[in-house]
Formats: sequence, structure tokens, C-alpha cells
Amino acid sequence: MIGIVWATAAGRESAERLAQAWPGECTVHSGPVKQQVQQAWQHSEAIVAFLATGATVRLIAPLLTAKQSDPGVVCVDEASRFAVALLGGHAKNANALADRVSDVLGTQPVVTTGTDAANIPGLDQLGFTPANPERLAAVSRAILDGEPVDWQADMTWPLPPMPPNVGGNPDAAHRVVVTDRDSSGSSAVVLHPPSLVLGIGSSKGVSEAEVAALVEQVLTAHGLAPESVCAVATADIKAAEPGIVAFAASRRLPVIAYTADELAAMDVPNPSEVVRAAVGTPSVSEASALLAARTMGRKAELVAAKTASAMATVAVARLTPWGRLAIVGLGPGAADLRTPRATAELRAAGIVVGLDQYVDQIRHVLRPGVRIVESGLGAEEERARTAVELAREGNAVALIGSGDAGVYAMASPALEFATDDVDVVAVPGVTAALAASSLLGAPLGHDHVYLSLSDLHTPWEVIERRLHAAAETDLVVCLYNPRSLKRQHQLPEALRILGKCRPPTTPAGLVHAASRPGERIHVTTLAELNPDDVDMNTVVIIGASTTRNISGRMVTPRGYQWMPS
Ligand code: SAH
Repeated sequence: MIGIVWATAAGRESAERLAQAWPGECTVHSGPVKQQVQQAWQHSEAIVAFLATGATVRLIAPLLTAKQSDPGVVCVDEASRFAVALLGGHAKNANALADRVSDVLGTQPVVTTGTDAANIPGLDQLGFTPANPERLAAVSRAILDGEPVDWQADMTWPLPPMPPNVGGNPDAAHRVVVTDRDSSGSSAVVLHPPSLVLGIGSSKGVSEAEVAALVEQVLTAHGLAPESVCAVATADIKAAEPGIVAFAASRRLPVIAYTADELAAMDVPNPSEVVRAAVGTPSVSEASALLAARTMGRKAELVAAKTASAMATVAVARLTPWGRLAIVGLGPGAADLRTPRATAELRAAGIVVGLDQYVDQIRHVLRPGVRIVESGLGAEEERARTAVELAREGNAVALIGSGDAGVYAMASPALEFATDDVDVVAVPGVTAALAASSLLGAPLGHDHVYLSLSDLHTPWEVIERRLHAAAETDLVVCLYNPRSLKRQHQLPEALRILGKCRPPTTPAGLVHAASRPGERIHVTTLAELNPDDVDMNTVVIIGASTTRNISGRMVTPRGYQWMPS
């Protein structure tokens, strides 16, 4: 039972919301607060206290006895902003309770237990099926407690990192084995990954029982774990065969069907002319298992060739999982300008690849045990290649970049190397021009262009031509890479070109280190812009002919006819 105590009207209201959300789980106490706490302490596994932490500490202090017997305590503040796991974070699941409370009340869970704050992935959240779920708790605790834990996997899965105490420790008391092989006798915690595909063919009218018996026979004969079966594949003319459909439904397996032509194109060990005459492809079970596994993974192999019963055939293919390359934009600098999705990808990555200064920006977000591949400025190509190679090996890799990782950054070189055997996701980030424009006002209110003044990889003539075009078409211009120690002449040249087509009074904005320590914002004009105020951590925005300085802010109107005159 969860005991709920409260002191104020707001507290009581929230208390009732919890009780409604969790019917039958809560007792809402009432009366003098001290008495409420004493009662709740006696009768509850956990207490949610709508009280300040200070008040709660004073009230429970005289009641404390032992970690294993004291209830868990979560405190929620008067404004329902925070749910603080105060006592029994693990022993009484107060950390999890703070999360549950937050789901209902919209509070921010505050968890201070080292291991949870350390953010270690749960073994039950990896997408694997435990062969012996009752053993999970003990090994999870060993992982959290930093005890040595052995971890063996048949294949590389794109997993989040495990802490450093988990790995190759064959003598450890706690062992985890990730395998699609049957491991019934094992003393380890066995996790079965979704790596096997059943290919099933049949004559018309096959029974579910016959299919089930044949599948069991084949899996047993090859020492394969039924928990690892993740799909049934067949020919499209068999996809509605009741015995196959019922079998798949009973195991909650999706049925994937292919045309006879698709199946006929597959190279299989046991083609049959009899099958070809009946179905139009020499193989259903082997060909469909292989084809589905190859689609669901980056590679496939047949692990059980065709076995036939009176009316059914079954083959099994094993897929090699896709690795994952996440291309993650970190935003311009400030933590709260990094998207939640970017943060989630960083935590899901087993390997993070990036420029050292960007890694520093997010090091605190990463999970312990993560492998970090950092390199200095200039090694872009090598960095991109490394990230792709690691993802192709099956790992979960995050390739990071500041701002948006696709804007003058790592996404393009990485995707130039990336082959179609890796799964790629990209998370957009707030690029420098956007961070700068919001600090300057609204300079991007009408058409604009991003230009990089770096002529390291682009001939200066090309950049010049684009500057002329932008000048002539009256676009607002955002200049990236405007100036560095080695590149001094480009910015004055760019300003000269733009100045040919727009007046010297055109507003211009400089933002140095947007959203980072040392941020500087300067609104000036095209004529007065001093290149010495610009460095490589600056983005420069030059207005169009319509851009105005209004109250010190750069504003480009949306159009001539937008505002009523
Ligand atoms: N991918 C990055 C841009 C990389 S190019 C992005 O999307 O923002 C590097 C250039 O970006 C720098 O020379 C500078 O012009 C600009 N820049 C990046 N971050 C910046 C910041 N926080 N403040 C100002 N300019 C920045």
C-alpha cells in the first residue's frame, strides 16, 4: 500500500489525483500531519508526502530503523514541480515511484541514488526475451552494485553501453549470455535476441498442430531457442493458410509473405521441382526464411535446412542485426537547446564518435561504459569513416556535431561512406544561424541563404559567385566559418561584394559563441562591421534591403503586403 500524506489544499488535490490514478493502491491520510506520517509509516510500503523535504526529514527522522524495513519515501513540493525520491530509492523502489508520480502529476523526478543517476540500461529493456526471468533481478543488482558480471553474446547487437564491471569476466559469479541457442541447462542469465526467422511451406489444409509440432521438432533438433523466433515467412499464396496463420498468431509472430518470383530468385540448398510445379518457386520454406532474415537484418544464413512432415515444411534462418548510426546535432551549446531526442540517442549509443570539444559538451549525459572515439579538428574524414565502420559491425554508434550535424558538418561525409547495410537515423539540431538569429531579432523573416566562407575545400571563385548571386537576389545572408587565423581576407571581400548591391546602412549582426559562455551579440551595419570583431566562433548575418534595425533588433519584414498600413 502507498500511504499519501499532505498538509495544504494543493497537496490534498494532488493526493486525490494520485489515488484516482492508482485505484486500490493508495491510502490518503488526513488529520494532523505528524499523525498522518506516523500512520503511513506503520501501514505502507511507500509514502508519497506532499510536503517540503525539510519537513518530511524532521517528521520521519525519529521513525527510521533499517533500510530493508523502512518504507520508501517520495516528497512532492507544493507547486508539484519535483518528485524527490528521499528514502529507499532501490530497497523500496522509491526511485521508480518518483517516476510513476511524475507520469501522473507532471513533476520532474529527482533521483539521487548513484547507480540510477548513473543511468544504466535495464536488462529487461534491451528487446531480448529472458529464458529465466526470475534470475534477472539478482544480476541487475550485481550490475548496479558494480560487482563483476560476465557478458557473452553470439553476435554484436546495437545496445546501449553496460558499465565497466560488465564484460568478459568468465570467473564472475554472475553471468549473462545473449544467444539464440537453447540454453536450458545454463546457470547463466540467458537472454534470447530476436534473431531467428521460420520459413514455413505447406499443402492446403495443414493443421496448426502439425505446423507447431514440426517447428518444435526442427528447433529442438538444431538446438535453437523458440524465444528467439521473431517472424514467420512464407509464400504469398500460403499467407492465409489457416494452420500457418493460427500458429503465428498463437506465438504473436508477424507473417511475412513473398511472391513466387521473389522466392525463386533465392539461392537455396534444397530446391524442389515438385514445389516449383505447385507454387511457381522451387523453395518456400528455405527461400522465404532467408529472404525475410536478409530484410530484417543486414545478413542472413540458413541454420536449419528444410524439414518436411506430411503436409508442412519448415526451415530456419538467422539474421545478423543491423548496426545503427545516429547522426546527432547537439545544438549551439546550451544544454537546454539540445533536443530531448538528441539526448535519448546519446544515451542509447554504445559508441560516441566526435570532435573532442563537442564530446566535452555532452560527456555528462553519456552512460558509463560508453566507448568514446574523439579526435581533433581536421580529422573529419577519418571520423566519419570510423563511425560508419563501427556501425557496420553492428554497434549502436552516435556521430555528433554541434548545431545541426548536417549543416557544414559530419552527416554528409558519413553518408558518403555509409553502405546500405547500416541503419541510419539523424536528429536535427539548432544550427548556429538559428541560434544567432533569435538573439539578433528576426533577421530571417524572409528568404535567406547560408554560405560558408571557408575555402579549404571549396574554391574561392565558387564562393564568390554565390556571394554575387545572393547580393543580386537580395537574400539575407548567414555567413558560417567567416574568419579564422589563417583565413582573413574572405570576410572583407564578402562584405565588399554584398555592399555593391545593398546600402552601407544595411543592418548586420554578429553573434559570437551563441548560447555558450562568452556569448556576444552585436548589431551594426554593413559599412561599420569590423572584421576584427569576428572569429571562427562567430556567425555573421547581413540583412537584405528590407531588413531594418528596430529598437536595436534586426528585423526582416515578412513581405511588403503583410502588415496593414
Ligand atoms: N554544424 C554547425 C556548423 C559548423 S561550421 C551548425 O549547424 O551550427 C562552424 C561554424 O559555425 C563556425 O565557424 C561559426 O561560424 C558557426 N557556429 C557554430 N556554432 C556557433 C555558435 N555557438 N555561435 C556562433 N557561431 C557558431
